[in-house]
Amino acid sequence: MRARDFGLASCHTCGLVVKLPAVGHVHCPRCASPVHSRKVNSLSTSWALLLAAMIAYVPANLFPVMSVVSFGKRQSDTILSGVIYLFVHGDWPLALIVFVASVLVPLLKMIALTYLLVTVQRKSYLRHQQRTRLYRIVELVGRWSMVDIFVVALLAALVNIGNLATIEPGAGAIAFTTVVVLTMLAAANFDPRLIWDHQGEK
Ligand SMILES: [Zn+2]
Repeated sequence: MRARDFGLASCHTCGLVVKLPAVGHVHCPRCASPVHSRKVNSLSTSWALLLAAMIAYVPANLFPVMSVVSFGKRQSDTILSGVIYLFVHGDWPLALIVFVASVLVPLLKMIALTYLLVTVQRKSYLRHQQRTRLYRIVELVGRWSMVDIFVVALLAALVNIGNLATIEPGAGAIAFTTVVVLTMLAAANFDPRLIWDHQGEK
């Protein structure tokens, strides 16, 4: 049984349970936010954001995330070439962290969101609990993908020794930030209650 079956919905902002009218929408009597039984256009908005993130994932991995200029020599690194550089120079724990946070996590997150969107769209009645758990993991893990960007930002701020050495963020960094932000927004726009809407139906 869902709250929807009783004509009830909880306010997204303050959580108050509100009686929904038969037609139109209602504003929360406590905080005046509009109350909807499900997030409006949840699926199409999530799809749009997710597809944009997938497109941005390509330049995020192809373009350099940062360039180190020292003594007039410039060395540019993409995420993967940075990982390889760290690995070859014996710093494999850091290489592993960067690889997991910057390559693996965004990729798995996009796959997980695609799976959630497709199953909801196909009105799947299977594995509701696992899918809800998957959604929670996706939301929780999202913010940690920013580790790489923080590293670049920190390095750029710290290693600016005049003309001797400078670190500049590259085009890949912008694309990577776009991926992270877009997947976070896609996850935020997905309404996990949709997973349960076809429970018991067959
Ligand atoms: Zn409210």
